[in-house]
Amino acid sequence: MAESDTQRIVVVTGASRGIGAACASAFLANGDVVVGLSRSRGTTPTGAEFVTCDLTDPASVEDAFDEVTNRHGHIDVLVANAGITRDQLAIRMSDEDFSTVIDTNLLGTFRCARSALKRMIRQRSGSIIMVSSVGAFMGLPGQANYAASKAGLVGMARALAREVGSRSITVNVVAPGLIATEMTEVLGQERVEAMTTQVPLGRIGQAEEVASAAVFLASAGARYITGAVLSIDGGLGMGH
Ligand code: NDP
Repeated sequence: MAESDTQRIVVVTGASRGIGAACASAFLANGDVVVGLSRSRGTTPTGAEFVTCDLTDPASVEDAFDEVTNRHGHIDVLVANAGITRDQLAIRMSDEDFSTVIDTNLLGTFRCARSALKRMIRQRSGSIIMVSSVGAFMGLPGQANYAASKAGLVGMARALAREVGSRSITVNVVAPGLIATEMTEVLGQERVEAMTTQVPLGRIGQAEEVASAAVFLASAGARYITGAVLSIDGGLGMGH
């Protein structure tokens, strides 16, 4: 289908699987043009475009956003979803384990937000949604690096929300709880079941349930929401 003048251009990082792929599908179903950015195409949904991008490489991020702008001329929504874990108890966690997670989850998200904002500020419109985690607020053992990176996103989003609010750009955060993806598969069934007992809704979440929150935060109905954190965690963090 040819792109119409009114179609939004939505960039989703980490759309090659899991929550990012679900976000890409949800925005496609909404009638948007979706461009997935990740190191591999993986299972980026059919119908979404793909641009290779490694968030840990500043030039790769700049090139990817240039490519999106060359193709479409504008960027309306950024879902900064890509992220990694490298869990380890703190006494055994190497500097490399710590800095790799920060470089991907926090600095990588900053690189994408900066690139997107350069375009959005000129347009005087846009929405950025950053994918944090309930782990940012609750802190889970073995995740000093991950929790720091995900908590950092909240402060970063709020600083950016203040910087660009006058340009009608919103910057919000979603904080998923335990969601069924490859990231949680590595935890093993026993640990997932134990964690699920702490969830008031009594079940693991689905990637689509995070995607629908991202679609809402980028919608016309959410234009007065910025600097917010929306928990999608079955009540695990009780809104924190
Ligand atoms: P997955 O591991 O299933 O997917 C991660 C995605 O990030 C992949 O598409 C991967 O693509 C991409 N990615 C990783 N590193 C890079 C990089 N250096 N450059 C570009 N892309 C990269 O994770 P989930 O879908 O489970 O998680 C998505 C987000 O949600 C993450 O930020 C995660 O922290 C967060 N989250 C997840 C929860 C869960 O329970 N699953 C709970 C709370 C938060 P590729 O490898 O092809 O580059």
